[in-house]
Amino acid sequence: MTLERLNENDFAMLLGSTLFRYVAAESIEGIMQGCRIRELAVGETLLETDQENDRLYVILSGSLHVYLNRERSEPVTTLGAGETVGEMSILDGGRVSAIVVAAEPCRLVAMKEELLWSMVQVSHSAACNLLTILTRRLRNANQIIEDQIAQFNSYREYGSIDSLSGLHNRHWFDQMLGRLLHRCHLAGKPLSLVMIDMDNFKEINDSFGHLAGDRAIHGIAQAIVGNSRPGLLAARYGGDEFVIILPEIELSRATAIADRLRQGVMNATILDHHDNALPGLTLSVGVAEAPPGTGRDQLLAAADAALFRAKNGGRNRVCC
Ligand code: GH3
Ligand code: MG
Repeated sequence: MTLERLNENDFAMLLGSTLFRYVAAESIEGIMQGCRIRELAVGETLLETDQENDRLYVILSGSLHVYLNRERSEPVTTLGAGETVGEMSILDGGRVSAIVVAAEPCRLVAMKEELLWSMVQVSHSAACNLLTILTRRLRNANQIIEDQIAQFNSYREYGSIDSLSGLHNRHWFDQMLGRLLHRCHLAGKPLSLVMIDMDNFKEINDSFGHLAGDRAIHGIAQAIVGNSRPGLLAARYGGDEFVIILPEIELSRATAIADRLRQGVMNATILDHHDNALPGLTLSVGVAEAPPGTGRDQLLAAADAALFRAKNGGRNRVCC
């Protein structure tokens, strides 16, 4: 660590920084005599999370990356000449909340806490500048929070797995159905769609609680997978509904596959969150075939109508 005093050039640079904007040089000359220069090589750490810090640093040249975590994957911001770092922990007396590392060779002015307060006392402009710096930090922090929320939402929307059932999710299904219909259409092959809805599922929630209901959804999904060939194109369509895409399979074969699944699930033991078997879980199933050229909405409507017939016909059955 170099701890030389400021030279004239440093002093001129300092007066051009955000913190010293409109501050009269003569009013702070004495204060700045107490400041020291710190130099950093690339990759050298200036501040670590959770350390105590009693200095504010003004960057005279070079730049610093600011990271929020130790992995240092992406800096949340990069600070350059004229900007400050370290002021937060001085103002609130708390520990450092970020990791600050030199992105380029840096020359910094290190200002001890008591000098900062003296400067704020003697210069109204310096006090205003400090407020400006803090407002920018706040805006930056808000932007980071907004970005993280947006990222989280996009992961949730565009991730392809439904976390409760372990099957693919609705977004995956919407994309995949259109793609496979197009592919089968080009190849002159049929495609069938199986739409499944659990019977009287509200009663499971009402009798055994929502957690048991969640376990039932998971158990049914796994029973569907367990009674199918590997590579099944199945998704949770929403609530207690599932869908299966059967490319290159015509209606009669699709109906036979669906009925095998229905029987397999009916005979499976589905456990609740206390590992007690849940009684009477059955499925109603609608099957529809899309001959080459059928649109996805038309196919979905046909499968939905078949499912409606299965429910109306007394549940625990397959209709096409
Ligand atoms: P039906 O035989 O006519 O299908 O009767 P049902 O009781 O299954 O009625 P319906 O399919 O319309 O209702 C599905 C219920 O599933 C409604 C809702 O309370 C419940 N549900 C939806 N999503 C979830 C979930 O993620 N977890 C749990 N535990 N329940 C859910
Ligand atoms: Mg249902």
